[in-house]
Amino acid sequence: MSRYLNPKYKNLEAYTPGEQPQNMKYIKLNTNESPYPPSDGVLSAVNAKEASLLRLYSDPESKDLKKAIADLYGVNEKNVYLSNGSDDILNFCFMAFTSENTGAAFPEISYGFYKVFADLYGIDYDRIPLKEDFTINPADYYGLGKLIVIANPNAPTGLMLSLDDIEKIIQENPENVVLIDEAYVDFGGNSAYKLIDKYKNLIVVQTFSKSRSMAGARLGFAFADEELIEDLEKIKFSTNPYNVNRLTTAAGLAALRDNQYYMDRCKEIIETRNFTTEELVKLGFEVLPSNANFIFAKSNDIDGLSLYQELKNKGILIRHFSDEKIKDYNRITIGTREEMEAFLEAVKTILKEKKI
Ligand code: PMP
Repeated sequence: MSRYLNPKYKNLEAYTPGEQPQNMKYIKLNTNESPYPPSDGVLSAVNAKEASLLRLYSDPESKDLKKAIADLYGVNEKNVYLSNGSDDILNFCFMAFTSENTGAAFPEISYGFYKVFADLYGIDYDRIPLKEDFTINPADYYGLGKLIVIANPNAPTGLMLSLDDIEKIIQENPENVVLIDEAYVDFGGNSAYKLIDKYKNLIVVQTFSKSRSMAGARLGFAFADEELIEDLEKIKFSTNPYNVNRLTTAAGLAALRDNQYYMDRCKEIIETRNFTTEELVKLGFEVLPSNANFIFAKSNDIDGLSLYQELKNKGILIRHFSDEKIKDYNRITIGTREEMEAFLEAVKTILKEKKI
């Protein structure tokens, strides 16, 4: 740390992303990326012609991409916001919708970045405990007078709240914004975006990173009432107006045209998730019922950290979190069927070695 850093950031604990080894010698089941490549349409859209246009700035209003999203989801373009990955949108929401007087509230066990944003803006926040079975109790979020942030499905549990529960939380917080982070919604969730016409305080955030195989392109989108979108645009135009670059725009437009390809891949991932869950249960694991492209599982024979380490030694990366309440678990991203078979074989070997 230099002596020039603003003292308010001195104790800021930055977010730690999952490992991103740059040599691909691992089966990578640790950061919830898609195991499938982008569609052919995306591969050909990111071409030399598009690259030659890189001398020009991208459209700061992302009009074409907004229209394509609006058409696909059946909403008005004025209700769509686009940004450099959904982390960027989360950041802007914390910047825009919290203050000295309005803090934030989110589940104690959830996406780790929420706490980092809250610390970054120095706001007051509640980390609300989950129930014993890792589910969220909706009533804990009623009338808090804070920005409510809920990942649905939640991460790293994969558990989902019903739309009725979400709607009740929105109704019980008319004075503040409710942000539903739907990074994993395409893997079996039920999106709240259809509620945006009914509630002025709802923002639904999604991403191209998981279900549309574009984590490396950084493209996130949000649905909300027009006035909330205007607020986000104001923040974006006050920080980085060109935050969706040209190549990502071309890739995003092609991905939306090829939507069926991605929805078919999501179906495959759901099937592989169900297969992996059943096999892990046979091996004595407890697996939470997931609606995402990952599962959260605990072995009764080996602790979470050892399993993570032993799998890494065998060339398979999964995610282990050291927080006391979840340290017995691991989060395992669903890869291809072949990758999951290799993962299960490795787990079997590790468990056998332990028993000898
Ligand atoms: N929300 C949740 C719940 C996530 O797990 C992630 C991925 N780490 C994100 C948002 C951010 O995704 P991205 O910035 O790639 O869109």
